[in-house]
Amino acid sequence: MKHDELLPFSFGGNKVRIAQKYFEDMNKKGCDCMIAYGNSRSNLCRVIANMSKAKGIPCIVISPADESGSRVETSNSMIVKAMDANIIPCNKADVAATVASTMDEYRGQGLNPYYIYGDIYGKGNERVAVQAYVEAYEEILQYEAENGIIFDYIFHASGTGITQAGLICGSLLHGDNRQIIGISVARDTERGCDVIADNILAYMERQEDTTKTIHFEDKYLAGGYGKYNDQIEDTIKRMLNEDGIPLDTTYTGKAFWGTTEYLKEHSIEGKNILFIHTGGLPLFFDKLAALTKL
Ligand SMILES: *Cc1c(COP(=O)(O)O)cnc(C)c1O
Repeated sequence: MKHDELLPFSFGGNKVRIAQKYFEDMNKKGCDCMIAYGNSRSNLCRVIANMSKAKGIPCIVISPADESGSRVETSNSMIVKAMDANIIPCNKADVAATVASTMDEYRGQGLNPYYIYGDIYGKGNERVAVQAYVEAYEEILQYEAENGIIFDYIFHASGTGITQAGLICGSLLHGDNRQIIGISVARDTERGCDVIADNILAYMERQEDTTKTIHFEDKYLAGGYGKYNDQIEDTIKRMLNEDGIPLDTTYTGKAFWGTTEYLKEHSIEGKNILFIHTGGLPLFFDKLAALTKL
């Protein structure tokens, strides 16, 4: 397991690597305030709000309600609040308008806001985030060289596909042909693959034949984003009991369960398997009482 959950900032996770890239890009572009987007469970919003606070940069979090129209408080949303981010609620249907009006408002105050996803429709900044996991891929190569091991498979939780696109671009740049398998936590395979292909194109700036390189598995969704089943719960308990490793029901627990199922279903044996723990530790604590039946 590659322990990105132990990256030493704000409970770690893949969003630490990605947020660092956004801050570097913000500086490069001469911007002076951060605008993030994500719901109350978002690990990315937590890290961005914390990093903004640490750097003394104003932070705005545009926060959509759930599909049902409701909002839940989570450990992540409480940390965002504690970091004094300006939380702007909106509905999924009016994100672009909210981003536009928020940018205008802050420009009116003489600031130069940076929106992490690019334009108001959330496009144009894919390259910046993808770079984070190209670099993580290179760390894996270095680990392999130092330890005389080659991983045949890399598994991880795949959501927006940024992490997976980065790993795939890394392997394309180095001419490797190991399998990188994203266990979907939300999207179906068709949509997941489309977005990852777009992100790879944005990064590589050339058309790649990605039909054989993108493995985005939607078989272990357990009903959709945030949903989980008894086997996922059992996996989480077992991993904590036997290895002292916290996994959550939305991302890493679902993906780790999916990984073990995938290996069984494909009769994969005698191979070196790397699982990337992508973080989300506050989500583990959100479910702790339910998982331990306290
Ligand atoms: C965001 C997130 C993911 C998914 O990463 P993407 O780059 O969006 O695919 C996986 N695990 C955790 C804990 C996350 O917060």
